[in-house]
Amino acid sequence: MQHRLVVVIGFFFFSAVLSVGAQTRSTGIHKRSILVDTHNDCLSGQVLEGRDISVLLSKGHSDYVRWKKGGLDIQFFSVYTGETPRHKAGFFHDALEEIDSLQHIILRHPDKFDFAASYRQAKQKVHRNKVVAMIGVEGGHMIESDFSKLDTLIARGMSYLTLTWNNSNDWATSAMDESGAGKVVQHKGLTDFGKQVVRRLNDAGVMVDLSHVGEQTFYDAIAVTTKPVILTHSSVWALCPVFRNVKDDQIKAVATNGGVICINFYPAFISKKFVEVKKYWEGPGKDSLLKLSTKPSPDAINTIIQTALQQNMPGVSDVADHIDYIVKLVGDDYVGIGADYDGIGYVPQGLEDVTKYPNLTEELKRRGYSNSSIRKILGGNVLRVLKANRP
Ligand SMILES: [Zn+2]
Repeated sequence: MQHRLVVVIGFFFFSAVLSVGAQTRSTGIHKRSILVDTHNDCLSGQVLEGRDISVLLSKGHSDYVRWKKGGLDIQFFSVYTGETPRHKAGFFHDALEEIDSLQHIILRHPDKFDFAASYRQAKQKVHRNKVVAMIGVEGGHMIESDFSKLDTLIARGMSYLTLTWNNSNDWATSAMDESGAGKVVQHKGLTDFGKQVVRRLNDAGVMVDLSHVGEQTFYDAIAVTTKPVILTHSSVWALCPVFRNVKDDQIKAVATNGGVICINFYPAFISKKFVEVKKYWEGPGKDSLLKLSTKPSPDAINTIIQTALQQNMPGVSDVADHIDYIVKLVGDDYVGIGADYDGIGYVPQGLEDVTKYPNLTEELKRRGYSNSSIRKILGGNVLRVLKANRP
C-alpha cells in the first residue's frame, strides 16, 4: 500500500516536472520568437472611443500592458472605416484621422511604442519593452478611387492595403458580395483601375492584402502582383466554410506566390459548430423564446443566448487546427497570426485577449512543432513577406 503510494506520488511528481519543463520550453520559444500580429482593430474599437491604450484597460482585448504580457513584438494596426464613413468628409478623411490617432499615441509614449514602415525598421525596433506599430489600411474604398489619395496613405507609412472590406468598391469586389451574402455585383474581380492599384502597391513596397476579397478579385490580384501577397486575417474554408475563409486552391496559390495567410481567431471563422449555434440563436432560437406565453425579459433572452454560445465556444486547439491544416497542405512557410482582436465580438476559450498568445505557442509545441516552425508561424513568415515587399 505504502509502496504503491510512493510510486503514485513519484509518478505525479515526475509528470509535474515534465509538464513544467514543457511549459518552460514553450514559454522560452515564445519569448525568443518575434511575435507579429497582422490585424488589430483597437484604433477604431478603442482609441476613437477615447480609451488610452498605453495603460492597462478593463475593456477590449488589447493595450500596451497586455501586449507585452502576451509577448507581442510587432502589431499591425488596422485603419478601418465601414461602408458608411464616420465623417461627412468621407472615407479618406476617416483613414487619416486614425493614422493621426496612432501617431499621437506613439509621440506621447516613445518609451512604449515605436513606428515602423519597412522590414529593416521593424526588425531594428523590436524591443522587449516596446510595441512596434505598423499600419494596415482595411478597405480599398478609403482611397476613393484616387491615386493621389493612395500616394498620401503610402507616404503616411501604410504597410498593407486590404483591397476590399466586406463592401465592394469601384474597382474590386468583396468576398461578401461575390459569394451572394451581400450586394449583387455585375462584374466580379479587379477592374483595370484595380490592377493599376496592385501595381502601384507593388512599386511602393506596400503589401497587397487579400483578406475580405472575393475569389475572382483574389485570383486577378495574384495574376497581377509581382510580390508575395498577405491575407492579414483569414482562416481555412475546409474547416469552417464561411465566405471570409480561404479554400484549398487559394491556399496553394498563396504558397506558389510565396505569400502568407494569417489566421483569424474569430470563433465564427474557426468553428463550424459555433457558426451553426450562432445562426440558430440569432434566428429560430430567439424567435421561439419571444413566442413563449411567459416571454422572458430581453436580459434573460440575452443570457440564454450567450450561455449557449459560450458552451459551444471553440478553444486554442481549434485555432491550432487551422494552422495545422495549412502546414499539412503547403508547408510551414505560409501561415501566420492575424487574430483580429478588438474587431471581433467573441473570442476563443484560452485566447480571450492579447495576453493569451503563449497558449497557442504551447499548443503548437504540444503537437510536436519544432522551434524553427514555431518561429516562422509566430512572425518569421510575415517578416519574410514584408521584406520581399519593402526591405
Ligand atoms: Zn476585417
